[in-house]
Amino acid sequence: MRIDILSAVPRLLDSWFKESILQRAQQKGLAEVVVHDLRDWSTDKHRRLDDYPFGGGAGMVMTIEPIHRAIAELRSQRDYAEVIYLSPDGVQLDQGLANQLSTIGNMILLCGHYKGVDERVREHLITREVSIGDYVLSGGELPAAVLSDAVIRLLPGVLGDETSALSDSFQDGLVAPPDYTRPADYQGWPVPEILLSGHQARIDEWRHQQAVERTRQRRPDLLKRTDRDGDVQDR
Ligand code: SAM
Repeated sequence: MRIDILSAVPRLLDSWFKESILQRAQQKGLAEVVVHDLRDWSTDKHRRLDDYPFGGGAGMVMTIEPIHRAIAELRSQRDYAEVIYLSPDGVQLDQGLANQLSTIGNMILLCGHYKGVDERVREHLITREVSIGDYVLSGGELPAAVLSDAVIRLLPGVLGDETSALSDSFQDGLVAPPDYTRPADYQGWPVPEILLSGHQARIDEWRHQQAVERTRQRRPDLLKRTDRDGDVQDR
């Protein structure tokens, strides 16, 4: 999978993809992330990307031309399954959407800035709009990093068995059960005995019950989609 990120401030993403799991995914050739400076496609002599909004009002708007030129150039070089605009009013990112996006192939992610982009970008150049939550950030770089991270860690081979994405929260409609590591007793705070029993079937059952109970306490909305035992109903 190749992800091309179009940004007015590409330096914001300098370190994100060069560390840890995302770096290893790229080193293994499982994912490629290329961050582009949208100003490279600006024809303005000052490399500007924004202009005043028609009709007046506060703030600047990102112009369509550099964005169009960037997307057209990338599309002429390879196929992209989606061109996604990160936007507070887009469809909210969740694990289901991340799962779906991890299977589609190449994507372009467009980061907005200022008041956002000229509406014609959204009408004509974008295939999907994604939000990371009901709050407004200054730019789309953090949302693009969040989306890329959520998707790349799901690609087969990116995570080792010991960190399998299948055991993460939300994958089975439940939040994850608690984890413990050594020491088995820290200053009188012991780990649950069952985890030291070596009885894998009983440990698995305990973890499942913990996940169901935690979901009931913290995210009862998720249980509406699962039956009483935590088995997924409608996914
Ligand atoms: N005027 C826009 C509005 O009210 O919806 C907000 C623009 S915001 C200051 C600038 C850019 O940040 C947006 O174009 C978008 O790319 C990005 N952004 C901000 N919050 C976001 C969120 N919650 N999810 C995804 N992208 C977001």
